[in-house]
Amino acid sequence: MRPFASLLLIASLTTTAAFAADATPEVDPATLAKLRDAALQSDYAYERLSDLTDTIGPRLSGSKQAAAAVTQVADAMRALGATVTLQPVKVPHWVRGEERAELVGYPGQPAGLTQRIDLTALGGSGATPAKGLTREVVVVRSFAELEAKAAAVKDRIVLLSVPFDQNLAENGHSGVAYGQGGEPRFRGPAAAAKLGAAAMLVRSVGGARFRLPHTGATRFDDKGPKIPAAAVTVEDALLIERLSAKGPVTMTLTVTPQTLPDADSYNVIADWPGRDKPDEVVVLSGHLDSWDLGTGAIDDGAGVASAMGALSVLKSQGLRARRTIRLVAYMNEENGSRGARAYFDANKGSIEKQIAAIESDAGAGLPLGLHANVTLGSIKRLEALTDALRPFGASVLKRSDRPVGADIAPLSLAGVPGFEPLLDTRHYFDYHHTAADTLDKVEPDHLRRQVAVMTTLAWWLAEAPEPLERLPVEKAGE
Ligand SMILES: [Zn+2]
Repeated sequence: MRPFASLLLIASLTTTAAFAADATPEVDPATLAKLRDAALQSDYAYERLSDLTDTIGPRLSGSKQAAAAVTQVADAMRALGATVTLQPVKVPHWVRGEERAELVGYPGQPAGLTQRIDLTALGGSGATPAKGLTREVVVVRSFAELEAKAAAVKDRIVLLSVPFDQNLAENGHSGVAYGQGGEPRFRGPAAAAKLGAAAMLVRSVGGARFRLPHTGATRFDDKGPKIPAAAVTVEDALLIERLSAKGPVTMTLTVTPQTLPDADSYNVIADWPGRDKPDEVVVLSGHLDSWDLGTGAIDDGAGVASAMGALSVLKSQGLRARRTIRLVAYMNEENGSRGARAYFDANKGSIEKQIAAIESDAGAGLPLGLHANVTLGSIKRLEALTDALRPFGASVLKRSDRPVGADIAPLSLAGVPGFEPLLDTRHYFDYHHTAADTLDKVEPDHLRRQVAVMTTLAWWLAEAPEPLERLPVEKAGE
């Protein structure tokens, strides 16, 4: 081997260290700065978000609105000149019916009075009879207490009242707070159904007290019973707790949702083809579906709009990266993740061509940096990128060993490095899955900054001479 060739070999084996030590950055900083500055000047993403929320509104899977959103995003991306594909996805089609509740018996009840309770059915909930269901309410505060009161909850309405830990959220760990607080909603109704409960209520998962119920998915076992399941507002959960402490409380509950046959829908895929390696792909995504109470501005219109914004910046600057930057507006994140599954299944045979994946699904708060599911060895290489984000205070790089977005998780579990913009989410769960998730909660400047993060990150990943190191893949049996 000639000395020159062996030097090249060493260089390629030590790509990471060589680039870090080298004066020549892997990705041109001037281009990153140009993309960042263009994003910070553009209202394209906010305009698309207002189209999505003000002209369409809620976009629950299977709904007419979800179908209109597919068309709207696809048309906008075609207008930019992207190569658009609609990827078929069969989605669950659950529709909300009537929902109301009142306390019809309680200690100290004046003659002829009842107390209204504000609640909303959880996605996947079963239905009460049309005239409602009247039962005593049993309050429990944990899964352990639910099990311990197995005999008492039979044929009753159970309230599983677990507080959301807003202190954790205030300290920058809202995801942990949501993980803990969301568990009763995800698993509680199935657990209560197994014990023979007539219906289950959970305390809304959120940190604010606006007397707004927060919906969200619950999961019943395919073979197990399916009961009415609803989230009551924090205030009403506390009311029921106070009255129950004094004596028996009886509720009349009416929720009449329906589960219709699965519906045809789509992931919207819009490619900004690479100039050199077009078959290598960097996914830039959010989810297009939303819950049905609000207009899905923060969850997750902002994610989809910021990905659309990134493509518009690339177009305005006349730039194509080495690899393809692919916008994916996933369908059905909220109540099935069927879009994520469809995308993964379509690409698992050539998973090595999926170079990295980005998903924004944490709202529209002030961007602080990047949340990265990458190997330790990749951190150093990303410094030039975080340098580009430093001028507007978004230079934090927080590494995670776990996937950082629900829709890109299947990719990451198969080795694809994953990212999400790291946002201020201290008050994300104030509005999350409520009727108040609307456009006015989005600060246009924060969204511009999010577009700047999405654009520069996607550009770096698609432009770097060598892809980031793959994540370890857990093989079955290991
Ligand atoms: Zn979401």
